[in-house]
Amino acid sequence: MANIYRMKCPACGEVQNMKASGPCKKCGNQLIAEQPAAIALYRMGNFMGSANGFGIYINEQPYGAIGNREQLIIPLPYGEYKMHIVCGMNRKCNDPVIRLSPEDPYVCMKVHMKMGFVSNSFILERVAPSEMPQ
Ligand SMILES: [Zn+2]
Repeated sequence: MANIYRMKCPACGEVQNMKASGPCKKCGNQLIAEQPAAIALYRMGNFMGSANGFGIYINEQPYGAIGNREQLIIPLPYGEYKMHIVCGMNRKCNDPVIRLSPEDPYVCMKVHMKMGFVSNSFILERVAPSEMPQ
């Protein structure tokens, strides 16, 4: 599977999918996929709401959406990142904080929706790279 990078342009804020480094589709600013660290995110398949993208937020910044069974790589500098997922009226999430460091630069996460009595919530959990779809 070709890697899809989800990048946010630091100049204009446009969020876009790219296969490699290249110019921002909106403003032409060069976007670099080769960051020192990255979060790989995989959305596990489900039937409920499968047609709707799950909205991704990193440190309260929108990072677009992820479709059913989609996998994205989000290149990032080292640092701490709070991940949050929303979909429609479902805004509960376990909000994990991910620390990307030289010792731990590549973090794989899976997200799935947990059915609730009143509303559904999102569970993000870290997995080993071997547990990600290849
Ligand atoms: Zn841009």
